[in-house]
Amino acid sequence: MESQVKINPSHSLRMLNAFALLLIAIIGWLLPISTDKVQADDETPVLTEVISEPIFPLVTPEADQFGQTPLYTVPLALNPYDHFYFTRPIAMDSNTAPLRAFGYGFYYPDDDKVHTGVDISSPMYKPVLAAGDGQVVFIGYGLMNGGGDTNDPYGLAVLIRHSFSYGDKTLYTVYGHLDGIDVAKDQYVKVSDQIGTIGLTGNTSGPHVHFEVRIEDSKGGRVQNPELWMAPPVGSGVLAGRLKNDFGYLISAQQLWLESLETGYKYDIMSYAHVKHIYSDDYFRENFVIGDIPAGEYELSMIYKNKWYRTNVTIAPGTVNYVTFNGRNGFKQAMPEAPEIEEFLQ
Ligand SMILES: [Zn+2]
Repeated sequence: MESQVKINPSHSLRMLNAFALLLIAIIGWLLPISTDKVQADDETPVLTEVISEPIFPLVTPEADQFGQTPLYTVPLALNPYDHFYFTRPIAMDSNTAPLRAFGYGFYYPDDDKVHTGVDISSPMYKPVLAAGDGQVVFIGYGLMNGGGDTNDPYGLAVLIRHSFSYGDKTLYTVYGHLDGIDVAKDQYVKVSDQIGTIGLTGNTSGPHVHFEVRIEDSKGGRVQNPELWMAPPVGSGVLAGRLKNDFGYLISAQQLWLESLETGYKYDIMSYAHVKHIYSDDYFRENFVIGDIPAGEYELSMIYKNKWYRTNVTIAPGTVNYVTFNGRNGFKQAMPEAPEIEEFLQ
């Protein structure tokens, strides 16, 4: 849809106060793929009021009957560059956070392989669900190798071409290692429809679904980090970052730690290897992401060239939070510069 709303990016990004965030949130709901006809003419934002305490137009997290915090409703875009268009590929009756040990961009140097998605563990035979509306464009073995190859690393897999896009870019999602497939090729599915069951086919050591987001290229020539596309649980946010050395090159396979200043809980993070089909987001240009982080205050740290670097970061819920690291200059929490914002507002 064509947006009626114009944002002055430098202005709105500078003014990260509550009123601006609230307005961005309202605008954000209008931007993504919703087919609702919303007339925004009367709501031209006036970003002048300053309120010191940030507030977010979000409900208080409540556990559902399974004890799990529900996800935000998709599509979710509290900030102009967020694009949480997908839900989780398994039901919310168990932990749906991606496994941290083998994240997106994890590189296996021995095999010269790189992990092009995230893995979400689940018991065998549990339903695997469509992450968004779309049409099934591939089922079976051979997603990578073709020809129904039963040794294909994806095992039994489903590929969905979604009925919404990101700007003019087509979106696809992949579901790998299935035990069974419950949809036919060319079938249309709705979000959270069952498309298959959790299995152990292909290159896997335990029951999980390999979930992958492909943009533009159905063959996976340009994959994206699913944690920037899956809505977080209510009350949680996403941290993305770009680590560069003193010469401006991205730092791959860098270990980082994110520790809650409230609970002491510590998350391990690894930056990507930028090899093969691993791409960063067009706007964030990140080389690490960690999702499902409860909103709050954290310390982000890493050892780089035998020196500790630390910074405090605030995780706001329902949105991407962003830090950079620039060699000796260390960390900085600020959104990326974005002169080309108009391109993303289409
Ligand atoms: Zn995987």
